Amino acid sequence: MSRIAIVSAMHPELAAVLAWLPQKQKQTVAGREFVLGRWHGNDVVAVLSRIGKVAAATTATVLIERFGVRQVLFTGVAGGVAPLAQVGDVVVASAFMQHDMDASPLFPIYEVPLYGRSHFATDAVLTAALVRAAKTALAQGVLDAADLTEMGMEAGLAQVHQGLIISGDRFVSTRLESQRLQQALPAALAVEMEGAAVAQVCHDYGVPFAAMRTISDRSDDDAHADFLKFVDTVASRYSAAILDHFFTQRAR
Ligand code: SAH
Repeated sequence: MSRIAIVSAMHPELAAVLAWLPQKQKQTVAGREFVLGRWHGNDVVAVLSRIGKVAAATTATVLIERFGVRQVLFTGVAGGVAPLAQVGDVVVASAFMQHDMDASPLFPIYEVPLYGRSHFATDAVLTAALVRAAKTALAQGVLDAADLTEMGMEAGLAQVHQGLIISGDRFVSTRLESQRLQQALPAALAVEMEGAAVAQVCHDYGVPFAAMRTISDRSDDDAHADFLKFVDTVASRYSAAILDHFFTQRAR
């Protein structure tokens, strides 16, 4: 089966993914460690992109050019923008756009110059498979009672949403900025810093792409609080559990 990439922006998430790859081979390219392995029989390359659009675009390009991946999955965390995207929910992207792209008045705001578009859709088949995997994982329950209590969460509440995710080179951490984004881009469910870059590179190469993000914060003044703890305790485990279901389905 064709090789698939798993990209994460942050260390704890990649660590959770790597725990599932028993026989690993490592190669360093462009200062990044690419880890090759098998997950339920699937040929996988996992890598840390680092944070931001440029770092993510470099990573995606190396994955396609050097490692010959034919599909790309991104897993990470994001800030909720739409009221329905609550902390602990999972958002699977149907499309990405860059909320900080503005070459107006030469091009319409948000349009990526010379592409004639602002939105880059994810692959419908991969995305549907990721939604199925996320729903199965969350229905089975990923966190134990102690983790739920520690994080002030309740069992069975987390939901899976599908829709637009916006990316930009900013950690959105004020209520004012979050509200501005929501007003300007009412379809946006969540905001992060890498997805639209990977979507654009995958579009350029014709490589199918899908992405899931656990909502770690509400992009408001409390966005930084306990962020790393959330990534460690909740999001990393969600990612690993969801990908495990994804690869079980794919292997069939
Ligand atoms: N304090 C962190 C910084 C992480 S930056 C550290 O020291 O590592 C935030 C990361 O999570 C980015 O990879 C981004 O994609 C995602 N993210 C989560 N919440 C976000 C928000 N409110 N705005 C933008 N990106 C967010």
